[in-house]
Amino acid sequence: MKLLIVEDEDAIAIPLTEGLRREGFAVTRAATGAEALAAPKVDLVLLDLRLPDMDGFEVCRQLRARSDVPIIMVTARGEEVDRVVGLELGADDYLVKPFGFRELLARIRAVSRRTGVREPGRDPELLVAGALEIDLRSRRALLRGEELALTPKEFELLALLAREPGVVVDRQRILREVWNTTWYGSARTIDVHVGALRRKLGDPAWINTVRGVGLRLEPLS
Ligand code: CA
Repeated sequence: MKLLIVEDEDAIAIPLTEGLRREGFAVTRAATGAEALAAPKVDLVLLDLRLPDMDGFEVCRQLRARSDVPIIMVTARGEEVDRVVGLELGADDYLVKPFGFRELLARIRAVSRRTGVREPGRDPELLVAGALEIDLRSRRALLRGEELALTPKEFELLALLAREPGVVVDRQRILREVWNTTWYGSARTIDVHVGALRRKLGDPAWINTVRGVGLRLEPLS
């Protein structure tokens, strides 16, 4: 999940960025409103209201005018009016400084849930590898948001590989976990399913065959 932190003060932005990266977020920082508006698309924005070049409300308004990106506003203590204005401008939540890191994480998760942004790595039932998303609960595999029509074994094979994108999964383990067998003679079964998966994924580079070892899913975009 990609976050944009809009904050001019290094003393706040640097530890925050480091902490969020440790939690698995991809963090971009903007120190001014202009930088925030020029930043690439993200999944959630943490927006400080006191910025050197422009008002945080104006940044919020402009962001909101062009996207539905969830926005959490950060206000100084007691700025009740700011909070109301912020929510009216389309902010999804607000935090009052000074806030604790755990509180921030809880807010990010709450806003993500409400706005439908899913957090890879947080939900063990949701596997994400590049442009591929696999929901183990609903047994659906989505490529760039489009559902793939997979057979049950194709789904299980893809899900097994997607648990550890970029890591080689050996053939014995694939046979054991997908086909409940260790009979090596059934190895050709794997190849047939891999062929079908490569076709359905639209690019053979998604699944690499590591000769003599096994298969590796490449998290392509
Ligand atoms: Ca500030």
